Amino acid sequence: MPPVSDAYREPAVTSPSDLRRLIRQTLEMYRGMGLEQIPHVAVPVDSPVAAPPRGAGPGPAAPLNRPRPNLTGAPWERSVKPVPAVAETPVVTPANAPLASAEPVVLSPTPKVARPAPTSLPVHATREERASALTVLQQGVVNCQRCPELASTRTNTVFGVGDPGAKILFLGEAPGADEDAQGEPFVGRAGQLLNDIITACRLKRDEIYICNVLKCRPPGNRTPLEGECANCREFLDGQLAAIDPEYIVCWGTTAAQNLLQTKQAIGKLRQQFFRHGRAKVVCTYHPSYLLRNPPAKKEVWEDMKFWRLEMGVDLSQGKKSGS
Ligand code: URA
Repeated sequence: MPPVSDAYREPAVTSPSDLRRLIRQTLEMYRGMGLEQIPHVAVPVDSPVAAPPRGAGPGPAAPLNRPRPNLTGAPWERSVKPVPAVAETPVVTPANAPLASAEPVVLSPTPKVARPAPTSLPVHATREERASALTVLQQGVVNCQRCPELASTRTNTVFGVGDPGAKILFLGEAPGADEDAQGEPFVGRAGQLLNDIITACRLKRDEIYICNVLKCRPPGNRTPLEGECANCREFLDGQLAAIDPEYIVCWGTTAAQNLLQTKQAIGKLRQQFFRHGRAKVVCTYHPSYLLRNPPAKKEVWEDMKFWRLEMGVDLSQGKKSGS
């Protein structure tokens, strides 16, 4: 596992020339994203001047391929209405079919779009600076016409929600009907289940930034096409650069394969950490899959325990051992 790169740790802004450099870098990042206008962003007067510095970064990454612990019941199960199972195994479509060979997972994504991925904001960027970068990106998404089918069938674009300074980012696949109607990710049945999982993980939804690979609903909730994911990647990269989270949880095949740029099946990507920028990445099954296949909740619970333990929270124990 490569060490956390120092390239992600820039010094705090301490002089006018630092500030000029920061503004220049940010503008270059926007230009790289193809954005030509910067909307005015209102910053509340009483908001904190600076977000706490990002943590010193995650500790050493866990070894790959840790042995899987015994399965236990998922604690949120009681609060979720059981749905009849229709599939025994994760849905595999031609677009997400695993490669025959067990190739090593690529830890840094290979950009599929011509423009380079934006670089992260400085580690000491304030919450307001992160929010401002997100607002600019969101405007680009609202106006986006790159995928004619999606642009002509969407009701709303679904950019993302949550704390711009979040240390955890959840990545889903694409908006469904409810999300398309409301313009917010994970608000339908899968979202309700995700909320239960969040609570079981001793977290609150508003301390997590939640977004999807695609910002528009694919008609009929079909699996996103590769070209659509490539078109949208720039916006996802922009979100990741603006938020610069410590942990990313990929929910389902599309999220995991797109972020990590791999064809490995989701079942093979579970129970290990990958690196993306300075973030540690974990992958698990999608909540929609759990609605179709409730027995897989046990495995997701194992994945949540595995991930949260890395954050110092032992979900097998009755009370918190860390943050
Ligand atoms: N499924 C997703 O992947 N994302 C959503 O926002 C909703 C359902």
